[in-house]
Amino acid sequence: MDNGKLQFLSKIADVLTKELDSSELVRELKTVLGSYIALKNLNIYVFDPNSSTLRNYAKNWGIIDDSLDIEGKENAYSAYNSIHGYDFVINNKAYKLPQTISDISFKIGSLYMPIVKNGMVFGIIEIIFENDTSIDMGFLFLMKIFGSQISLKLQNIVLNEQSQVNVEFHDAMKNIAKIIETQYELNYIVPLIGEMLDRFISDHLIYVFLKQEGEFKLIWPKACNDERIFDILKRLDSSYGFILTNDDKIGAFPLLTEGEITGCIVARSTLEKLSKRDIDYLEQLTRQAAVTISRANNYSKILQYATLDALTSLNNRRQFEIRLKQEVAAAKRQKNPLCGMMIDIDFFKKVNDTYGHAAGDEVLKRTAEKVKELLRESDIPARYGGEEFAVLLPFTGLEEAKVVGERLRKAVEQNPVTIGEEEVDKKDINVTISMGIAEFNPDETGEELFERADKALYQAKESGRNKVITISGK
Ligand code: GH3
Ligand code: MG
Ligand code: MG
Repeated sequence: MDNGKLQFLSKIADVLTKELDSSELVRELKTVLGSYIALKNLNIYVFDPNSSTLRNYAKNWGIIDDSLDIEGKENAYSAYNSIHGYDFVINNKAYKLPQTISDISFKIGSLYMPIVKNGMVFGIIEIIFENDTSIDMGFLFLMKIFGSQISLKLQNIVLNEQSQVNVEFHDAMKNIAKIIETQYELNYIVPLIGEMLDRFISDHLIYVFLKQEGEFKLIWPKACNDERIFDILKRLDSSYGFILTNDDKIGAFPLLTEGEITGCIVARSTLEKLSKRDIDYLEQLTRQAAVTISRANNYSKILQYATLDALTSLNNRRQFEIRLKQEVAAAKRQKNPLCGMMIDIDFFKKVNDTYGHAAGDEVLKRTAEKVKELLRESDIPARYGGEEFAVLLPFTGLEEAKVVGERLRKAVEQNPVTIGEEEVDKKDINVTISMGIAEFNPDETGEELFERADKALYQAKESGRNKVITISGK
């Protein structure tokens, strides 16, 4: 082999061992090849059996049908279809080195080479020359080596991306399983499942519906204005399998609990058809989600008569409402002062997003402990919702309540929550809370008292968080 060819191959080898993203890699290969021969374009296409399309490696695996003109598309597909068992497709004809090569007219416009794994073609390299370029046998031999270098590289890339997807999928599954150990409120779980699916199935929009009173109610995200989705839901009855729209772009995957449809996950593709792979994943995730949701349902049934929240051991919302009625009645009767306090953890979403939901749960627990620790026996704290706590302070006027609130606010601020089991992955999370306190007015209901406390809380948030705002009852 002459020096020029050796140099060419060594430059290609250099490019292939660099850390490059897909478009950079193809651009650099193009530069090297372009320095050797009059080149117009170089493309790497990999066949996706799920959608039966060729995908452009340099363009984020986008299907080539969307970006090529009809002729370019036909050339690529016909080359891919005829290249199996051959080394090249030149001017629509397949060749194998060296036997059949003699009848090539050596002026060509484009050249295709197979990308191979274990003798199986899984893609093609497309080389388009400037005008009609003359090539010789030596060049074809060189290209054969070039082609096998690229095949090897692509095998690794495809393998890596596949295993990456599998790892993420596995993690998503584990996350869903972990959540139900401590959470059973559907209002909390369903959006979480929606977000997780959405992150995982990145090419498609995800909607989660639950069946309530015989109808599908959209739970996540907040809105859906695609009529076709509601149409497809109507078709989802006792078939118990997933269904697709005619264009294969929308799929509805029923959530089944003991053979009953309890909800549905809908995936809507904005560009391409849902591939076999998408559908497999969605089916698995839906199955997992259905288990989660049905467990949460059962759990909340069991806990219907419970008075404490499972995560924080504070009063649960239901119990709190019972106590609120009693205390309001007593305060009216005995003309005692009473205050209502609403507490909300600041930027709590960020804790979940940065450290994970288990850490978020830990923060909730620790914050609840602080609340309990700093209140009096007669105070009534509750977990009001996700990361909101409500406290009733009987026999307490506004000034006194404010002192209690400030004390609590400072205690939370000054005591970061430590997470992590091992010494090495221990971390301190700084937590602050905002608080609204309303003083009871004997003309109002308990509900109204907490509406005002909530308003004060809102002001505390608006004015910068980590604050206590009070509203008098007068
Ligand atoms: P702000 O300061 O305005 O209150 O910001 P924020 O991020 O705290 O407020 P937002 O209401 O947007 O977020 C509350 C988050 O709390 C969203 C929800 O996923 C999370 N959350 C609710 N319940 C739980 C729970 O039981 N465990 C965990 N880990 N997260 C929860
Ligand atoms: Mg909140
Ligand atoms: Mg909050």
